[in-house]
Amino acid sequence: MENEWKSKHVAVIGVGSVGSAVADMLARAGVGRLTLVDPDVLSEDNLKRHVLTRESVGRNKAEAMAERLGCTGIPGKFAALPELPDVIASCVDSLVCESQISAYSLENNVPVVYGGVHGDAHTAEIITVIPGVTPCYECYERVGELPTPGQEAYTDPNYDKTKMPSQPGLWVDVLMAASLQVQAVLGVLGVRERMAPLVLMSLRYPFKTEAYSQKERCAVCSENMEGLWKSI
Ligand SMILES: [Zn+2]
Repeated sequence: MENEWKSKHVAVIGVGSVGSAVADMLARAGVGRLTLVDPDVLSEDNLKRHVLTRESVGRNKAEAMAERLGCTGIPGKFAALPELPDVIASCVDSLVCESQISAYSLENNVPVVYGGVHGDAHTAEIITVIPGVTPCYECYERVGELPTPGQEAYTDPNYDKTKMPSQPGLWVDVLMAASLQVQAVLGVLGVRERMAPLVLMSLRYPFKTEAYSQKERCAVCSENMEGLWKSI
C-alpha cells in the first residue's frame, strides 16, 4: 500500500500559513507528485506563519514553495488544473475560491479536503468531500453575514469580499490544523483511517474534537430533494 500512495498526485490550493505547512508535510511524507497554486506574493508579515523564510519575500508563494520542494508551482488564482489530481487539499481563505474548488471537484470527481482555522486559530475545521460518497462542501454552507472586510477592501478594486480577514494566530496552532488536514488527506489516500466528513477540533487544551456526518444532501450534490423540502 505504501508504494501505491507514493505515486499519488495531490494539489494544494492556497500556499499560505496552512497550505505551506500542508505542502511541506506531504512532500516529506513522500507523496509522489504535488501541484501548488497561489496568486499571492510572500510579504514580510507572512514570515510569522509560513514555511518560507526571509529570502523568499517578494516572490510568489506557490513558485517559491515549489522550488523548495521540487514540484510544480502555479502562480495565479485557482482555475482548471493542467492535470486531474488524486486529491485536492484546499487551504484558501476565500469562500468564492472554495466554491470554485467545490464545483471543480464535483464536475471531475476529485476528492477534496478543506482545511482552515477559525478566528485566531482557536479551532480547526476539516471537511472531507468525496464526490458521490460524502455530502459536498456546499452542504455546510455558512449562514450569517460575510466577514468584515480588511483595509484592502477600500484600496484594491479586485478585492474579494468573501476573503476571511487574517487574524493574529500563532503558527504553533496553525500547524496543528495543518497536521490534521494532512491526516485527512492520508485518510482519503487510504493510508490512515478516513475521518468523518466534518471535523472540528479545538486547538486549545484540552483539544476537544467534534465530528459530524450529515445525512441530508444539498441541491448541489444530490437529486434527492426530500431533505430540502423538510427544512422549508
Ligand atoms: Zn451538497
